[in-house]
Amino acid sequence: MKILVINCGSSSIKYKLYEMDTHAVLAAGGIERVGQEGAFLKTTDHNGEKLQLNFDCPTHTEGIKMMFDTLTHPQHGAIKSIDEIAAAGHRIVAGGRFAESRLVTPDMLEEWKTFMDLAPLHNPPALKGYNAVKAVVENMPNVFVFDTSFHQTMPEHAYKYAVPHELYEKYGLRRYGAHGTSYRFVSDETARFLGKDKKDLRMVIAHLGNGASIAAVANGECKDTSMGLTPLEGLVMGTRSGDIDPSVFSFLAENANMTISQITEMLNKKSGLLGISGLSNDCRTIEEEAANGHAGAKLALEIFIYRLAKYIGSMTVAAGGLDALVFTGGIGENSDIIRERVLGYLGFFGLQIDQEANLKARFGNAGVITTADSKAVAVVIPTNEELMI
Ligand code: AMP
Repeated sequence: MKILVINCGSSSIKYKLYEMDTHAVLAAGGIERVGQEGAFLKTTDHNGEKLQLNFDCPTHTEGIKMMFDTLTHPQHGAIKSIDEIAAAGHRIVAGGRFAESRLVTPDMLEEWKTFMDLAPLHNPPALKGYNAVKAVVENMPNVFVFDTSFHQTMPEHAYKYAVPHELYEKYGLRRYGAHGTSYRFVSDETARFLGKDKKDLRMVIAHLGNGASIAAVANGECKDTSMGLTPLEGLVMGTRSGDIDPSVFSFLAENANMTISQITEMLNKKSGLLGISGLSNDCRTIEEEAANGHAGAKLALEIFIYRLAKYIGSMTVAAGGLDALVFTGGIGENSDIIRERVLGYLGFFGLQIDQEANLKARFGNAGVITTADSKAVAVVIPTNEELMI
């Protein structure tokens, strides 16, 4: 059975076509600059030939059409006909109260649209992507896979904010979390890798990418996570501030004459590693420049690491203890520097780094990175959200 996985951003479309019997990736590509000048699709065909196709892509519909044309191209395509695709799975950041993935139906779609504001940067482009697939191939079943649904097992004391209760009743104001598809994959994979039943593992999983979050998973279920109503709460990220005193809004409105939307944009797009360093949101650049002595990059790294270590402590409380600390995501899977420095804060948990193992667990390699006599393990597990979808 062939399944197409689609991840739409505001100006991008990423896709992967899987043969589910073997988990083989039959085709993968990405379209950039949707709605802008100079749009293109990049892919590598089944002969290993790299392709870049430039085309006019004013909306997601043209992009999705180009994706299907490329998938079925007589020379470069992975399949002969769109009919070979059994279904499309869409990555959806915010799913509100949906606790499971859903086959898209008109009723389901109307209910989901009421959660649009929970991910204002991510949900609207996902809807555009779905509409575009529907416009090109009307009969293909579409499934929405929500980044929030894994977190629906959080207990009430973890997901409620300490604000008047009617705000939850009226507006659904609560913590929803994100990166749930990654956590679902990584928690299963960690148990498999360690040869344990996930029911017997208390895990703290740090998904560290350009967006970063952390979750406590025990008995195979999410107990708490760092992202909240939106993916802004929690850890320091590439461009997002993570936790901040909410009074920042009134303070900046009064002192800097900023509007709510300007402050929201600043916290989402101009903060985090980028804001602190004044250089970049890219962790590799930050690490390189910190090594060259750039003061902003050094501080950005230190705040990122310190906040992460603090959160590992609090998530250990939520998990009821710690058997496995798991690193995943672009930074978690590759940055031996960040992992080493975070573990440097956690010696009192009985975690001791194995330097050699830490250097080896990079670039897609899983591995335990703590010494054999550590009281718990720290482990690197590459995530695979598309396969999970
Ligand atoms: P993601 O959003 O999961 O794709 O992760 C992107 C982040 O991973 C970016 O900040 C990258 O700089 C970071 N990253 C990727 N490779 C490395 C590496 N070798 N060392 C440090 N950070 C890395």
